[in-house]
Amino acid sequence: MSPVPKPHESVEPLVASLPTPADLPDYARKTLEAIAPGFKLTDDRLREITHSFLHDFELGLSKYGEPMAMIPTYVTGVPNGKETGTFLALDLGGTNLRVCEVKLLGNHKFELRQQKYKVSDTLKTGEAVALFNYMADSVDAFLTERASIDPNQQNEDLLLGFTFSFPVEQTALARGELLTWTKGFSAKNAVGHDVGQLLQDAFDRRHMHVKCVAIVNDTVGTLMTRAYTGGDCLLGSIFGTGTNGAYVEDISRIPKLAGHPAVANGGKMVINCEWGAFNNTAGLRTVLPSTPFDNKLDRESINVRKQAFEKFISGMYQGEILRNILLTLVDHQPPILFKGESSATLNKHYGLDTAVMSDVENAQTLADVRTAVSAGLGLPLESVSDLDAWIVRWAAEMVATRAAKLSGAAVAAILVQTRHARLQGYGDPAEPIKTPGVMHVGVDGSMVEFYPHFEERLRSALRALVGEEAEKATKIGMAKDGSGVGAALCALQAMKQLTA
Ligand code: ADP
Ligand code: MG
Repeated sequence: MSPVPKPHESVEPLVASLPTPADLPDYARKTLEAIAPGFKLTDDRLREITHSFLHDFELGLSKYGEPMAMIPTYVTGVPNGKETGTFLALDLGGTNLRVCEVKLLGNHKFELRQQKYKVSDTLKTGEAVALFNYMADSVDAFLTERASIDPNQQNEDLLLGFTFSFPVEQTALARGELLTWTKGFSAKNAVGHDVGQLLQDAFDRRHMHVKCVAIVNDTVGTLMTRAYTGGDCLLGSIFGTGTNGAYVEDISRIPKLAGHPAVANGGKMVINCEWGAFNNTAGLRTVLPSTPFDNKLDRESINVRKQAFEKFISGMYQGEILRNILLTLVDHQPPILFKGESSATLNKHYGLDTAVMSDVENAQTLADVRTAVSAGLGLPLESVSDLDAWIVRWAAEMVATRAAKLSGAAVAAILVQTRHARLQGYGDPAEPIKTPGVMHVGVDGSMVEFYPHFEERLRSALRALVGEEAEKATKIGMAKDGSGVGAALCALQAMKQLTA
């Protein structure tokens, strides 16, 4: 069996750097070499992107209505691991709905009972009331079947944190209007409405003794969970169906909150960046490396010109970018892939799951790549030659490397924004930077959890942007169950802030 070439450091040389199969025809090589530069991210380009990120941060912190919303969460404290109590959490994130009961044990540890419920496309795209009724029914079913506490045996309502991972402009911990749907949701009569109230109304219609006291973005949950389990945490970020980050900002640096009673005493507040929307308005002047494959994805998406950054990075989109590349190669005359044969998976919009790319990149030998390609694309094994397998691997690696490097630019932007690292050409070089021994970044999502080389590729961009010392000091740790535990921690924070 021929070994698969190791992933190369940069997308730059691509075809040239890999031991190119001897039987790659000249016309195919030329086509691949024409595609590759579009995915290239030089260090200069990455720096330009990070500068642009910081610029969008500043805009979002100073004004409402900016594409990168920089949403104040009204969470003014992060946990230290000593917190106790039992709370409910409901997590609507993208692919699944989860209901959890979280028991905080007060020693950085917790116990979690949970149940997942499927969210059908009908619910995602139907009436909002039906979606929120379904969520209330799921909590009800959970309380009957799985929970250790019985709300009917309690004097007080059970407190619930609602992890709702869409852009919500919050006005209080439990209040906030949905700005826009993302990640394939489009339920009607939700945008512009208070999602905390929509959920509470659904509970109340069922006379349930449950009170929603916090709306929590999954990034905030990830940040809170990491702080609870591991101490200090600088950034909570998600690389799953979508991508986003939340970090702790000085209230003095959030001009749009000036005069708000909630910030009269200064201090800090967690900001939900909604960085998936980075570069939305740049249009043709985009600093992001858009290729025809990205443009096709965007045009055919339900949110054209929105979530520009997310469309390069997250699990929902990477498979689709790859599908667009592969189809171009299938349809090329003469065919470059599969002798021009396609498959139901390849022909279907969003038919190619990013998990298939994971499998293709995880394969250790070319024979294993062939198997992964055949299984993932739904093509008979005999239709996938060694050369086909190599080309799919090449394309997957190119898409995923670009995604991970762009993710590194987002992390770098937060390090610079919080004065933990310097970026060439940005800010006052005389201003001191904080240099803690370790900078903790809590992460969650299938991309970081399962995608091979994701962290290593992200780090290569981080190193290029903020230098080796800062990169080495950055500890990236999974905040497993972040959305559940984080919602419980926000419910507790709400209780503290209410009784303060
Ligand atoms: P969510 O963001 O909805 O909470 P996940 O973090 O599990 O959920 O991310 C789901 C996304 O990750 C989907 O878009 C799916 O295609 C993708 N995905 C699932 N498994 C893998 C995998 N093994 N490798 C890469 N991507 C995956
Ligand atoms: Mg999630």
